[in-house]
This record gives sequence, structure tokens and C-alpha cells, in this order.
Amino acid sequence: MRILVVEDEEKLASIIARGLRAENYAVDIALTAADGLHLATTTYFDLIILDLLLPDFPGTSLLRQLRQQRQEVPVLVLTARGELDVKVENFEAGADDYLTKPFAFAEFLMRVRALLRRSPATKSSTIKVGDLELDRLTHQVRRAGHKIELSPKEYSLLEYFALNAGRVLSRSMIIDRVWDQSFEGLTNIVDVYVRQLRRKIDEDYETKLIRTVRGLGYSIGADADA
Ligand code: CA
Repeated sequence: MRILVVEDEEKLASIIARGLRAENYAVDIALTAADGLHLATTTYFDLIILDLLLPDFPGTSLLRQLRQQRQEVPVLVLTARGELDVKVENFEAGADDYLTKPFAFAEFLMRVRALLRRSPATKSSTIKVGDLELDRLTHQVRRAGHKIELSPKEYSLLEYFALNAGRVLSRSMIIDRVWDQSFEGLTNIVDVYVRQLRRKIDEDYETKLIRTVRGLGYSIGADADA
């Protein structure tokens, strides 16, 4: 899951980013509305956290422009402005939720999770691929009933695969969705992680779920070894 934080207070932006990354989300930060709008229209995000008072133009107008372009991404407005008319204006502009600063991180996180649950990619909390089962709330993974321990990054990668079962995912698509802009390594990081995942979810089982599609990338599916 990839989240965009549009916030000009760098310290707050990095606290939010750190907290969200600790929860396994990939996070990008935009310090201006223009940057935020550019990122939001060129990159896929599952959620946008939006400050209202930004140095170049208001968050509310960023939000309006997004909605005019029919971008349905959930938006959580995060602002010091708690007046009712400001809230109403932003909900009318297309906000999905609103949180007033200062806020407790625990509440912020609950709202983030609630919004992500409603997003189109997250209709159900369990995903199944053959006998592999992922619980998106607890991040527990089981294969044929046996619990599999994954690192947070391995889980994110497997979740992205599982949400796109049957589709071929290129290394750059995977990097885009599972890593974020703070990642500057090589695309072979994907191969390294896929190798680890295979060891954990495929090695001990007859049916291999993860398939390498030569020259293109990877794909997951119950008939992957066919
Ligand atoms: Ca601000």
C-alpha cells in the first residue's frame, strides 16, 4: 500500500512517514501543493494525507483538481483548521475524512486503516491464492493451514502479488507499489525479495505459486507451475 503525504512542515511530514513506514506502508512526501498534485496524478496511491495550508496553493484546491480529474483515491485532510465551515468546504471538495492537529498518532492510524479498508483494492480482509491465505488486518500468512513468518517487506510484496493474482507484474511496477521514492537501489532488490518469498511460501510445497515470466517479471497464481 502506497501513501502520499502532502505536508509542508517537514518535521511533521517525516514523523508521519516514519510512523506509517513502521506499519509497512510505502510513503512519499510532497512539501508543496504543486508537488503533491504532480505526484498524485502521475503515481498510483492508495491514500493521500493532505494538509490545507501549503506554501503555494491551498490543499483544498489540490483536492478539487484531483476530483475534477476523476481521481477516486481516498483523501484524509489533516489540518490545524477545525472550524465547521472549513470542514464542510473540504468534504464538499471531495475529502473522505478529516483530522484536526494536534492529533494522537493512534487515532490517525485507525483512520488511515479505515480508509484503506474502503478503497477498491481492499474489499475483503482475506486474500486467497490456491491454498495460500493472507489476512490483511493481522498480516498473518498461512499456506495449507501452516503459519508462515514473513518480514514486513516480504508481506507487502506478497500482498501486492496476491491482489494481482494471475497478472504479470514487472519489476518496476513492483518497485513503484511496494517500495517508495526514498528507495534508490537497483531493481534487482525485487529478485532478492522474490527469492526469499519463494523459500518461505513455495519451497516446501509441490505446487509452486510464484512464477517467473522471462523478460517480463513475476506472476502469482494457483496454476503457476502448470
Ligand atoms: Ca501547513
